[in-house]
This record gives sequence, structure tokens and C-alpha cells, in this order.
Amino acid sequence: MSTDTATTTETTDEGPVVTFADLGLSDPVLKAVKDIGYETPSAIQEATIPTLLEGRDVVGLAQTGTGKTAAFALPILSRMESGSKVPQALVLSPTRELALQVCEAFEQFASHMKHVHVLPVYGGQAYGVQLSALRRGVDVVVGTPGRIMDHIAKGTLDLSELKYLVLDEADEMLKMGFAEDVETILAETPDDKQVALFSATMPAQIRRISQQYLTDPSEITVKTKTKTAANITQRYLMVSYPQKVDALTRILEVEDFEGMIIFVRTKSETETLAEKLRARGYAAAAISGDVAQAQRERTVNQLKSGKLDILVATDVAARGLDVDRITHVVNFDIPVDIESYVHRIGRTGRAGRKGDSISFVTPRERRLLSAIERHTKQPLTQMQLPTIEDVNETRLSRFDDAITAALEQQDRIEKFRDVIAHYVRNHDVPAEDVSAALAVVAQGDSPLLLDPNEDQLRNQVDRDGRRGERRDRDDDRGGREDRGPRRSQPMTAYRIEVGRRHRVEPRQIVGALANEGGLRRDDFGAIQIRPDFSIVELPESMDPGVLDRLSDTRISGKLIEIKPDRRGGARRYDRDDRGPRGPRRDDRGPRRDDDRPRRDDRRDDRRDDRPRYDDDRPARKPRH
Ligand code: AMP
Repeated sequence: MSTDTATTTETTDEGPVVTFADLGLSDPVLKAVKDIGYETPSAIQEATIPTLLEGRDVVGLAQTGTGKTAAFALPILSRMESGSKVPQALVLSPTRELALQVCEAFEQFASHMKHVHVLPVYGGQAYGVQLSALRRGVDVVVGTPGRIMDHIAKGTLDLSELKYLVLDEADEMLKMGFAEDVETILAETPDDKQVALFSATMPAQIRRISQQYLTDPSEITVKTKTKTAANITQRYLMVSYPQKVDALTRILEVEDFEGMIIFVRTKSETETLAEKLRARGYAAAAISGDVAQAQRERTVNQLKSGKLDILVATDVAARGLDVDRITHVVNFDIPVDIESYVHRIGRTGRAGRKGDSISFVTPRERRLLSAIERHTKQPLTQMQLPTIEDVNETRLSRFDDAITAALEQQDRIEKFRDVIAHYVRNHDVPAEDVSAALAVVAQGDSPLLLDPNEDQLRNQVDRDGRRGERRDRDDDRGGREDRGPRRSQPMTAYRIEVGRRHRVEPRQIVGALANEGGLRRDDFGAIQIRPDFSIVELPESMDPGVLDRLSDTRISGKLIEIKPDRRGGARRYDRDDRGPRGPRRDDRGPRRDDDRPRRDDRRDDRRDDRPRYDDDRPARKPRH
């Protein structure tokens, strides 16, 4: 099956909205989706969920950010039977970060299914924790292939009753050297299990695996025919989640907008963000699918008449919205689908006017941005966060404008002129000082100008931007595989007891060590495969705990027994000594490690009590 969704900017008369309830999901799952606040299924979800619910195998071409986790987790949970002691579902993920993230998503989606237990199983975590959880009984296991294989080898993971197997980011798993493990797991689990394979790309090896191990899979590709209007200037800002509100505030200060729609992903976020903007002096309101139609119409009319300047909306709430005053669309959260993007930015530039769109892109959403650019065939321009100087300049020019506008009200000026003249005469103070004093009264407690030396926000956002660009360049070169080690850090050579004889490849070493030891792609230096052992360069400053965590690690079933190499490092072996593949640059480093925030960071991301840059608040509600 292939879903072909046609969308243009002029879609004001969209067809009926498909809801999660239309897809056949179970009640507790639907309830959880409602709690989370997803409004409508994304394209991949709309296509995949009914197919998986039917029991059919699926090959889904989808990348991160499209909502693929829910696309497989929701139907699996909907069909899950209670009371099983051994795992019913297994999700294989390339990295532990992704495994933890998928686990967290499963837990959220299963929040109304008290009996369902989800367990992350990844390298680097003590076996004890995993073993006792497995003994107690789990329904869903989400793990990295290496550690799952270890458990299978030890007989501690019973997959004999497995009903669902998901290969998440299959292409990444292969790049990390897990092909053999994945195939073994596919072959050693029950024949009648249902398999869902997700991959951003479809190299021949994945096609072969799907032909060999999947049964008549439904191939789901969400193609989008999209066109964005040329009268809309499209920009993006690389910004990480915790900085978004402050970045938005600064953009609002500097951009010359009349009406604005800010899009967020969930209904609950519409209200939270609108509230924050109101607290910062903006005339903002929230609309989402939960807002009653009459109220929604009232709010839209207020935007039309200028009573409101900003609407914070979800996709559904903004469907077909046609308000000429909207000069700007901000994607506070980049949308999960390309057609949503096209629809969103089509809310500006109405009636032949010019429009502006600004999309916030977090470093790990960079690929989604590339997909949007590719499909709409229009590049987005990267913007920089306005500096404090920019903000000050805008504030000064608004201040000037306010004086000019007041001076035009001659009759009122007349009345005050005598009052001021009286004050100047009686207090012997120059008229400029009196004007300045009146400005202080008008300004209140908040400063008119900010200190340009105190621009932590800009520094932070610039750092995020550079991270995004770096990833961009890597993507252009064909992704992580071309990446070399971070050369600036001193390295130490380690010996591991697997070599060419064990058919080990550098990418397997990177995959296993990264996952088990919690290392990052930048941590890997040269890797040499010798007949009986291999030499891996790792940072001299590496936490000694990493070696402990690696003490049980196996590659191709063999304990690696990692220890510092006494012969003095990879470079001491001359070229001829190297294995047939040699230390290839293209075998280094799992990209995911950097792409995904660690679990704790992600928690932080969601905190609402993060510090605000109060000084960034507008001196008053900006004039539009
Ligand atoms: P994924 O591609 O699974 O990593 O999901 C990307 C992001 O989209 C995650 O933050 C999800 O919570 C979010 N998401 C998934 N499905 C939806 C949906 N139907 N509506 C809004 N957000 C979603």
C-alpha cells in the first residue's frame, strides 16, 4: 500500500479529518493519545496503524520526527493480551538513547493499561536490573540488538511467545554493524510473529531482509506532492527545546508582524504557550480541536479585527483559516508531516500579500527540515536569533514612533504643554530632563534597553545552530559514516580480543562499544582489525567506569576483554599489519548518540519552570 497525499497551499476546503478514533485503536490506547494531546494521526500513522491492526507485516519508509514510534506502538498495545509472563513485543533500536525514548513512548501510550510492563534492555546497564525485571515478567522489551542477543545466548530472554517484532531505524542498525544480530533475532523468534520494519532509506540489504523474513509486507511510503507559495519567505532557526520560548519572545520583539499564527504539536501546549505570551504582554489566545466551534470563531474574529495579534494553534484548529492580517506563521514545533507544513505556512500570504514563516528546528529535527526542503523544492533560509542590539534598536525605534504618534494628537499635546512649562519654570529643570522623567513614568520598572553583554540566549542558540550545521555537512557527505574522530583530543589505544578471525568489522566494534559503554561517535579514533584481536583508540580522558561497563561486552558472541594496549597504540602497527579493511574512517561512530538528548535532558526539556529571561520582555505591548 502506498499513501499519496496531494496538498497545495490553497487547501481551504480540506476533506474530513481522520482522527485516531477512526483507526480502530483500543479504548485505553485512545484515552492515552488524548491525554498526550496528539490531535490527529500523522501520515505514517494513518497508513500504518490500520495495517498493523489487521495483523499484516509492514515495511515503513519513515524517518525520525514523522511519528513512527506511535505508528507501531499504538497498534501493538491495542492488540496486546493481558496476563502473559513472557514478552509479547520486542522493539530493536540502534542505540540506547532511542531505546529509552521508545520505551518512554510505550509507557505513555500504555498509561491506561496497568498490566502492561515495558523494559528497556541496552548495553551498559547492569544485567541484574534487567534480569530481575525479566523474571517478574514484561510485555514489551525495547533493546539494542547486541544486548538482546546476549540475553538470548544466556537464556534469560524468552522470546518463544513473541507476537510482535519491530525493527526501528533498520538502516541505522545495519550501519552500526548489527545486521547479523538482527537476522539471528528474526530467524530465532516464532514464525507467526508480526513484523514491522521502519527505515529512513531502503538499501538492498534491508530489502533482502524484508523479503526473507517478512510475510507479504505492506510497503508504506508517505509521498507528498507539495507546493509552497513563492510569496512566502521561509526561514528556520536552529534552537533546542528549552530555548524556544525565549527565542520566540525575541523574534516577536524584532519582527514587524501584524497577525501571527504559532503552531505547536499538542492541544495542551497551545494553552501553555498562549499563557506565556500573554504574561509577556502579547495579545495571544489558544485554539485547538478541543475549543468549541463558537469560541473558535470568536477567537478568529478577534484576530481579524486586531483585538488579538497572536493565535497559538494546532493543525486541526487552523485548518482552512483565512485571515488577511496574518503576516507571520511560526512553527514553534516543526510539523510531523510535510503536508502539514505546507498547509501551515499557507495561512499567511493570503489575498496576494507577502508572508513570512519561521520554523524552529531542534538539532535532531534537522533531517525533517531537509525533507521539507526536498519535497517543497524550496530551500529555507537559516536565520540567526536577533541579538540584544537588534532588540534595543527595535525598542528605540518603537519608542521614537510612539513619540511621533503622540505629537500628532495636537489637541492633547496643547493641554499638556502648559503643565510642562509650569513645571520647568517652577523647578528650574531643563525641558529634556522633564521629558526623560516622563519617559521613566511611561516605561515603568522594566528597562527600555538590555545589556548586550548579557546575551547567554544568543550564545546558546548559536551553539545549537552550529551543531545543526555540522550535522548538515555530515549528512551531505553521506551521513555519519564519513565522519572521522575528533582529532583534538588525546587518545589511548585499547586491545579487544576479537579480530578478523571472528569476522568482526569496525562498525560492529563501534556499535557495541558505543551502546554498552555509553560512548559517543566522536570518541572513536583509529580502529585496527588484526587476525586475533583489534586495537581501538578511545579518549585518554575517558571515564574509567566505561571499562567496567564494557567488561561483559561480547561481539560476535565473543567476550571482548577490553584492556589498555601495552604495545602503545594503533599507530605502532605498521600499515601492512592492518586487517584487510584497515581503520576505515567510514566505519566510525553512531550518529544517534548525539542526535538524541539523553533521557534526563529530555525530562529537562519538558520542564515548564525553566528560567525566563525576564529582561527580554517587551517594554509594552508592541504596536502593530
Ligand atoms: P517520532 O517520529 O516517533 O520520533 O515522533 C516525533 C515527534 O512527534 C515526537 O515528539 C512525538 O511525540 C510527536 N508526535 C507523534 N505523533 C504525533 C501526532 N499524531 N501529532 C502530534 N505530534 C506527534
